[in-house]
Amino acid sequence: MSPFVWSPAPDAPPFPASGYAALADSFARILNTKNDVLLIQGEAVAALEAAAVSLGAPGRRALNLVTSLYGRWFGAWLRRAGVEAVDLVAEPGKPLAAEQVEAALKRGRFDILAVVHAESASGILNPLEAVAALAKAHGALLVVDAVASVGGHELDLTALGADLVVVGPQKALGGQAGASAVAVSPAAWTKIAPSGEAPSILSLADQRALWLEQGRGALPGTPSALEFHALAQSLARVEAEGLAALQERHRRAAAAARAGVLALTGRAWVPPAQASNLVTAARPPEGISAAALLAAAPQGHALTAGVGPGGERLIRLNHTGPRARLETVLGDLAAFASALRALGLPADAGAALAAALEAP
Ligand SMILES: *Cc1c(COP(=O)(O)O)cnc(C)c1O
Repeated sequence: MSPFVWSPAPDAPPFPASGYAALADSFARILNTKNDVLLIQGEAVAALEAAAVSLGAPGRRALNLVTSLYGRWFGAWLRRAGVEAVDLVAEPGKPLAAEQVEAALKRGRFDILAVVHAESASGILNPLEAVAALAKAHGALLVVDAVASVGGHELDLTALGADLVVVGPQKALGGQAGASAVAVSPAAWTKIAPSGEAPSILSLADQRALWLEQGRGALPGTPSALEFHALAQSLARVEAEGLAALQERHRRAAAAARAGVLALTGRAWVPPAQASNLVTAARPPEGISAAALLAAAPQGHALTAGVGPGGERLIRLNHTGPRARLETVLGDLAAFASALRALGLPADAGAALAAALEAP
């Protein structure tokens, strides 16, 4: 291609300064919150790191629930910022139970309780409502990583009373990974570390001083116009489809995937109430590794191994964002069945597809 041909990617027009507030307001509607919503330039792990390091203060204690790599990182960021963070680690690939969280809270005084809502690494769902109630009873700030769950699960911040909630457009909302958001409650603001000597993308206090308190015009720094044009389009698409319809599309795809996997393997990784709507994890039959099953799957299949501790034992069916559709799930189940048959195992693809189609 001639270097003089206009290209929409590098030559994207500036993103209007007046447009950022609308994006934050759109996230606020999706989360049903009146709390401040900050836009963070960078993928959602940057927003998670910003939330963690902004909570740093001497003598502060956190109970950090770990059900994946993201939770592990969050605890490490808290500790780097001077928080005494205790990790409560789940069995690999499994959710934590509210009773485990309650028992851990009884063992100390905690100012912060941090949890990942749904995991795309292992397809599990943590008991967020119960965890939120425990945080309230304990007087702890509730921090939620809702990056994977937003759009795929009900997530009502007003009802939950969550204090710091991190979301991104790149999972169920079907967008790009270059911009993310943090919702900050009034209680959380009282615990946020003040601005430092120089501005930092990881300082929520800076985002407040340089954006919220300046009337929500231009974002501080030099935002990538491309990322914010993409975010605007993703959020507009979500609002056009409707949040309830998007959540229902994920619920339906997940129900179909679970029914199909149960028909094929005779077992479920977690009970339905503990399963995320984003990804369904399946355990290959005894004696078959996930790697062997993936190698036996037909060319072009979209199955993947799990991620993180325990993930190597799991096969994931991804039904997140644009993939949250029955036809995607049916294709994945057919590939799964085909891999089982290639390994000489019995697999009734017809029964699996029928079970998926009949799942309510
Ligand atoms: C995807 C995801 C993130 C963000 O990861 P990125 O690498 O920034 O896309 C954070 N938390 C959870 C639970 C996720 O699934």
